[in-house]
Amino acid sequence: MSFYWVKTNSIIKKIFSKYVWDIPNDRKQIYLTFDDGPTPEITSWVLDQLKAHNAKATFFCIGKNIEAQPDLFRKIIHNKHAIGNHTNNHLNGWSTTTENYLENVAECAQIIKKQQIEDSNLPSTLFRPPYGKVTTKQINALKGQGYKIIMWDVLSADFDVTITKEKCLDNVISNIQPGSIIVFHDSVKAFPNLKYTLPKVLDYIDQQQFQYATLQ
Ligand SMILES: [Zn+2]
Repeated sequence: MSFYWVKTNSIIKKIFSKYVWDIPNDRKQIYLTFDDGPTPEITSWVLDQLKAHNAKATFFCIGKNIEAQPDLFRKIIHNKHAIGNHTNNHLNGWSTTTENYLENVAECAQIIKKQQIEDSNLPSTLFRPPYGKVTTKQINALKGQGYKIIMWDVLSADFDVTITKEKCLDNVISNIQPGSIIVFHDSVKAFPNLKYTLPKVLDYIDQQQFQYATLQ
C-alpha cells in the first residue's frame, strides 16, 4: 500500500501553491470530484445518486475510457457536470518523461474534442495528475498551456481495498468543510467503498446545507 494522506494540511497547500487544493468561500460551496471513469454501470450509478440530490460534480476522465464509453461520457456532460483531463492512460508523472506525459495529456484532450460536444466547460482546462504524482517540470509546462492543476483537500481513499467502508465514510465526514475538493473514484476497484459512502456523504452534505459546485 502506497502512502497517502486523507486531509491535506495547510503547510502542504502553502508549499505547493501552484496546485489548487481547495476553494475557500463563504457560500459553503464544496466540490465533489470523481476520477478514473467513465466506467460501465458505475458512472451511471454515480450520476443517479447525484441527480437524486440535485448535486453537481466534476469528473476527471481517462482518455482511453472516454474512447471506450463515449455515450457514458456524453451522459456526464448532459447531466451538467464538469469534466477534467486525467491523462489518456493514467500515467504516473514521476516515472514518465515530460515529453511523454504532455503527449498523453494532449491525447486525452484530443479524445474529448473528438466527441464534438457543445458545452461551456469544453475544452476543459482542468487537469488532475493520476496518483497526484507529477513533476514540477510537467506542472509548469501544463500551466503554460493554460491548465489548472486540481489536487484535493479530502481524499475518501475509496480505492484502498484494505480499509473498511465505514473508515472511507469517516475520511470524508470528518474532514469536509466549506471549500473542500473531495476525491472519489468511479472505478471498479473503488466501487465497494463508494457504494456505501457516497449516498451517506450526499445526505450529510444536504444536512449541513453545503452547496454543490463544479470546478471551472
Ligand atoms: Zn486516477
